Amino acid sequence: MPIDPLLAFLPAPIATGLSHVPNMIAFDFGRYLIAATVIAAIVWIAKRTGWAYRQIQDRVARSEDYRREFLASLRTCAIFVFTGIFIVAGDEIGIFYDIEGSYGLGIDFALFAAIIVGHDAYFYWTHRMMHHPRLFRTFHRFHHRSITPTPFAAYAFSVPEALVMNAFMPLWLLFVPTPVTVISAFLAFMIVRNAMGHAGLELHARWWLKSPLTRWINTTTHHDLHHSGNFNRNYGLYFTWWDRLMGTEHPNYAAEFAKSVTKPIGLSESARPAATPAR
Ligand SMILES: [Zn+2]
Ligand SMILES: [Zn+2]
Repeated sequence: MPIDPLLAFLPAPIATGLSHVPNMIAFDFGRYLIAATVIAAIVWIAKRTGWAYRQIQDRVARSEDYRREFLASLRTCAIFVFTGIFIVAGDEIGIFYDIEGSYGLGIDFALFAAIIVGHDAYFYWTHRMMHHPRLFRTFHRFHHRSITPTPFAAYAFSVPEALVMNAFMPLWLLFVPTPVTVISAFLAFMIVRNAMGHAGLELHARWWLKSPLTRWINTTTHHDLHHSGNFNRNYGLYFTWWDRLMGTEHPNYAAEFAKSVTKPIGLSESARPAATPAR
């Protein structure tokens, strides 16, 4: 990409990184805004078309919760862009493997799966570490201000937590040569699953935990339980296997999921118990 003459006085790798900023703003802010808004719209429609009973908590988020989650997520997007400048610069000076091109569909897809599995492990362990009493206040308390999360909480992190979350991509690229198309597909997948985890309404099929094909994939109830008071349970992002392996899965997860997807007898489809007032 040609470097804007105004950037010519900067070291070339940084100037190249800065020249990508408009694209990175579009991609980093755009994917958050689109994913969170679309999931929020799906939840809004679902509540009015027969899936109201799937709302996981009786409590509802306040407008100030939405505002806090939204503004903090925009801050995280800005940190993503800032980190992106140095990823491009690092690529220019050869720190990372070359990330252009493709290995062919089969290998690219295998890399896509590998990066999701890798990020799931990274998320589980960094998330669990941030729950350590000595780290919680600085890193993770902000995210847990959302007792009843909304899709806009997907990137609602304090600055230190956003930096931890952003560190995954450059760390991965230090070791694994990954095409930029695979990285983009992964980041898009990540924000969609992240927004779904914070949806507040169970979006997964009723049979999800009964099928061996899907029961190891997280549901909205799984992460919602983590937010609604069970802070030392359900640390995983995409899959349940780390929580199962390490004994941190909520003991009543399956029962709570069943409750989320079962229509209460005697309630009309759109009826819900009255929402409890916010904190
Ligand atoms: Zn969360
Ligand atoms: Zn947490």
